[in-house]
Amino acid sequence: MTDAKVTALHSRRWTSADAQAHFHMHAWGGGYFSVNAAGHVQMKVDDLPAIDVRQVVDEIARRGVDRPVLIRFQDILAARVRELNAAFQQAREECSYAAPYRAVYPIKVNQMHEVVDEILEAGAAYELGLECGSKAELVAAVALQEGDDALLICNGYKDDAMLGLVLDAQSLGKNVVPVVEKFEEFERLYALARQRGIALRFGVRLRLGVSSAGHWADSSGDRSKFGVSFSQLVDIVSVLARDDCRDALVLLHCHLGSQIPNIMTLAEGVRELAQVYVQLCNDGIAPEFLDVGGGLGVNYDAGVGGGAETSINYTLQEYANTVVSTVGEICATAKQPAPTLITESGRALTAHHSLLVVPALGASGPGADHSDVIVTDDDDPLIKALGDTLRWVTEEPAIGVRELLEAFHDATARRRDASGAFRMGYLSLGQKARADSLYFKICECIERDTGKIDWRTLPLELATLPDMLVDQYLCDFSVFQSMLDHWAIGQCFPVMPLQRLDEVPDRRAMLVDLTCDSDGKIARYVSYDEQRRYLDVHALRDGEPYYFGIFLMGAYQDIMGDAHNLFGRVSEVHVYADDEEDDGFYIEKILPGSQVQDMLGQVQYFPNDLQRRMSDIVRRKVQAKRLRASEGVEILDRYRAFFSASPYLDPEQLPGESGVSGEAVSEAMDQPA
Ligand code: PLP
Repeated sequence: MTDAKVTALHSRRWTSADAQAHFHMHAWGGGYFSVNAAGHVQMKVDDLPAIDVRQVVDEIARRGVDRPVLIRFQDILAARVRELNAAFQQAREECSYAAPYRAVYPIKVNQMHEVVDEILEAGAAYELGLECGSKAELVAAVALQEGDDALLICNGYKDDAMLGLVLDAQSLGKNVVPVVEKFEEFERLYALARQRGIALRFGVRLRLGVSSAGHWADSSGDRSKFGVSFSQLVDIVSVLARDDCRDALVLLHCHLGSQIPNIMTLAEGVRELAQVYVQLCNDGIAPEFLDVGGGLGVNYDAGVGGGAETSINYTLQEYANTVVSTVGEICATAKQPAPTLITESGRALTAHHSLLVVPALGASGPGADHSDVIVTDDDDPLIKALGDTLRWVTEEPAIGVRELLEAFHDATARRRDASGAFRMGYLSLGQKARADSLYFKICECIERDTGKIDWRTLPLELATLPDMLVDQYLCDFSVFQSMLDHWAIGQCFPVMPLQRLDEVPDRRAMLVDLTCDSDGKIARYVSYDEQRRYLDVHALRDGEPYYFGIFLMGAYQDIMGDAHNLFGRVSEVHVYADDEEDDGFYIEKILPGSQVQDMLGQVQYFPNDLQRRMSDIVRRKVQAKRLRASEGVEILDRYRAFFSASPYLDPEQLPGESGVSGEAVSEAMDQPA
């Protein structure tokens, strides 16, 4: 809604529907968030009762819980899982796609134990799997999935310890698929599998030619740091053909980048991947799974036509239709069997479920700092002149652009004179304050009148008035801590007041945080106008709490910082120069980095619990005679050793480093199986 329309609405009653439209809730709310008759934001999923968010916040306050607070709506997680599966079910039915669909949740998007548990519980009916991309994630994921059928896809670079754990899990009968990112990783995996006498079963991530747009575009295309090139794939295929183990390659994977803005990009990427699949089938390799990765986007923004990085130009159903129909058509043309389809959607499953609530602590700025002024005979002539201009802009009925501009120039000149007079000691502090208040009042009136004028005809000085008149609302939170992507890459998140939405929001504010950093502010708001730097809010009232909701925080944000991919704090050394030392320096302190168990503890996974789950899995396999007891004990010992290890990879266990398995690799690769 334009400012002109907001102004027009002053003249009639503002309703909850107006607020919904004004804050673009239809664009980003996913159908879960709306405004109720009390003027509060509410959350509703399917037939469950609506939850009044402001009431939740008041209840939290009554219980003495500190704010800001992150609210997780677990029902939304379950709903997203259902909706994703329903969309693919419908697409498969419409395209008569014979093979199944399996959703896989990449836990890096939000590793919180409760989040993963909720997704797994809701996904049980659909055999939803997990995807992990680091050591700590693998340690957690392998113990979380109780059944053997659900997929666990292991992406990212892996050292030998990780590959070993993957093989251990495969020995336990789990459906774990390591996805190799480099030819050397394939070689090491192959060698390790042979050493242990396990049949190789793996996937390949392809570096496609197609790349997406936006901040995450580098996850795909020629410049991507992940995935094997087409020529490396050909090399892998020749080894498999040479050793007659073509069925070892069970999965083809690509990831075009998170938050794909344009459906055409997805269609192109999937087409390229599907072509690789059918050509492999023609060569006698028929991977069971085709994994199109993550990237299903979320509308953070009000942009409706794509292009903007934080909006998407498709629906969930269109996404599913595109994947299914593209693969289906290519397989039908090539007369090859359709593969089981996999998506690794993370953002789309989790973004909506979490909401950050921040209290406004106070306001400052033109609107908040300046009170109404009644000009008297005792005032300085400069104040009287400003008073005349104010009367003129408020009382004159039809003022045009030229008159408004003139009034603005008059007011600006008088205020400048008043400031000069104050600096010279000719004007009192009180008079200077009155001059400022009158000036901002005049600007507000002019700005309100310009709202009725076609913005294309506005002179620049008047067009920039809205930005000049914005207040600052100080809020109790840290942008760096809680909205990392806004701080780092300027991503826009929906923000709006949680209450008084049946009142016109007649103030404009930029939300600033408590930190003393100049970038500790929310500088972009959902709007059709990309330049908009403010939010329409209500004037604060004494003694009445006023809260803002920052929405769609559930993907990447509330888990980011040091905990991204659960890699954790790196080790630190403190070094001093000293010419008395042989090397000219000494190390004063070594602070060890995080261990896998520290990182897991941050997201509520505890060693005892995970190890107990893993022991149960091993015991069941031993009882079922799938494993010898001694093998089971070895697997458990290796698993336990992960908890005190570094979450980072061990360079000695990576390709190109000397080490036990380096020799084993070359030995194994030289000999046919
Ligand atoms: N799969 C892989 C390999 C990824 O790197 C990512 C994240 O970038 C995802 C899945 C999740 O992507 P999204 O959250 O966009 O669905």
